[in-house]
Amino acid sequence: MRLIFLGAPGAGKGTQAARLARRLRVPHISTGDMLRETVREDTPLARDLRSHLDSGRLVPDDKMNEAVRARLKKPDTDEGFILDGYPRTAAQAQALQENLSEKGRKLDAVLYFNLRQDVAVERLSGRRTCRNCTANYHVKFNPPEKEGVCGRCGGELFQRDDDVHAVIKKRFEEYRQKTVSLVDFYRNAGLLKEIDAAPAPDEIYSRLLTALGHVE
Ligand code: AMP
Repeated sequence: MRLIFLGAPGAGKGTQAARLARRLRVPHISTGDMLRETVREDTPLARDLRSHLDSGRLVPDDKMNEAVRARLKKPDTDEGFILDGYPRTAAQAQALQENLSEKGRKLDAVLYFNLRQDVAVERLSGRRTCRNCTANYHVKFNPPEKEGVCGRCGGELFQRDDDVHAVIKKRFEEYRQKTVSLVDFYRNAGLLKEIDAAPAPDEIYSRLLTALGHVE
């Protein structure tokens, strides 16, 4: 299956994408994770990208399109993929469409995680992420068994630099200005499946499976 996970920051796309990807045995491609990996390096490109991430601005389309094009060339995407956090602009959606149609491939569905902004902000400000396996926790709603330690792999938990108030605000601004129009774009294409992202993760997952015609 070729799927896109769309929705505001904090809607839970990453958590759900990771779980569904394990079940479908397809790669979970998070452009945010790819970028965070790249900015660990000490190169001019990394510094430039880091300035975008740390301020909550989107990375320019050409860079993102190139990175995703390269990723989708890898053979592990032959049976499908979950794109989490891409496309985020109309130009990215266009580039993805061109890329897929060159290979005679089509998207199966776009899952839109719909969540009120105040709830999303609360989730983001309490989020903790594993440095090693990128699993997400929440200090209040989903705390790790041992503080600061990932229950899955034992990695160190940290707060992302962009999960702080001022940057969260900018990320929502970017979302409203550049990304939200993709909801209508994919609805008009007949691909959109809307998921209420307010319930607990297990409930969302089961609705996700139902929306895709799978049973648990
Ligand atoms: P995320 O982990 O999806 O919240 O992404 C974190 C940050 O990475 C975003 O705030 C952007 O700066 C950047 N980013 C991730 N995906 C994209 C994309 N498709 N286009 C532009 N910037 C992106």
